[in-house]
Amino acid sequence: QRMRRGLAKTQAGLVGRIDTLLGGRGKVDAELIEELEEILITADLGMQTTQALIAAIEQRMARDAAADPQMVRQVLQQEMSRRLAEVDTPFDLDRPGPMVVMVVGVNGVGKTTTIGKLAHLWTAQGKKVLLGAGDTFRAAAADQLEVWAGRAGVDIVRHAEGADPAAVAFDAAKAAVARGADILLLDTAGRLHTKVNLMEELKKVRRVLAREIPEAPHETLLVLDATTGQNALVQARLFKEAVEVTGLVLTKLDGTARGGIVVAIANDLQLPVRFVGIGEGIEDLRPFEPEMFVRALFE
Ligand code: GDP
Repeated sequence: QRMRRGLAKTQAGLVGRIDTLLGGRGKVDAELIEELEEILITADLGMQTTQALIAAIEQRMARDAAADPQMVRQVLQQEMSRRLAEVDTPFDLDRPGPMVVMVVGVNGVGKTTTIGKLAHLWTAQGKKVLLGAGDTFRAAAADQLEVWAGRAGVDIVRHAEGADPAAVAFDAAKAAVARGADILLLDTAGRLHTKVNLMEELKKVRRVLAREIPEAPHETLLVLDATTGQNALVQARLFKEAVEVTGLVLTKLDGTARGGIVVAIANDLQLPVRFVGIGEGIEDLRPFEPEMFVRALFE
């Protein structure tokens, strides 16, 4: 229900427009397909995903020339579900701890908020969560994270501003082991200054983490702002080249009609969407389920 409300703008901007288009037509012809393509692209489905969806509709048309416009809606819904499900992998929180979840993304996308929401969500699920304030570059990043730690009722490991992020990672990993944490949520610097620098910094962080906790980080979540549409896609590509991203978080879906970007990014990058942000409050983060997401849009 909350998901449906969070997606109301995208619902109107994408499915609402599709329904208006289909409702006025008796048959599926080239003109309809062309207008549909335009709707998909302006709703931020992206070139690649739009082409794939259109191709699926054309294939279906080739099999069943008498298909009515409602078929188009069905095929779109099925194809979006299928493409999201295809890259979906289980997110296993129940492995022996501490499990390390590294969070990456540029400033302003909602990284701090997302970490706070995750700490709250996992604590509510009975996990012992520890935060690591690995963004030592930005003034006040650790302060902000500490506020969220307070809201979620979890501990935080932080150093002074300007400290080496790898040193924070090392101390946080040690503390996670010593305190018997189930999950260490590690923030990272939110600047994509240059790809090489970011890569080097995160490589070092990974190295020291793995020294304390074998196989850490177990997950690297990339946080992206859905309201930025195609820019989010560009950012995602850059990060994927620089870091081993294992999953995505799309924030601010409540504030945008560009929710189609969720499908575009997952499909383009072949990465699972793990969570979506649908508000500023601590409860406003939802585990992502492809079927449910697409149904909230279409039904
Ligand atoms: P950071 O710089 O990436 O750490 O970003 P912050 O976590 O400080 O968030 C930046 C702004 O986005 C804040 O005003 C947040 O309240 C807001 N924000 C984060 N997630 C969401 C969301 O899912 N929905 C909405 N509407 N706002 C969000």
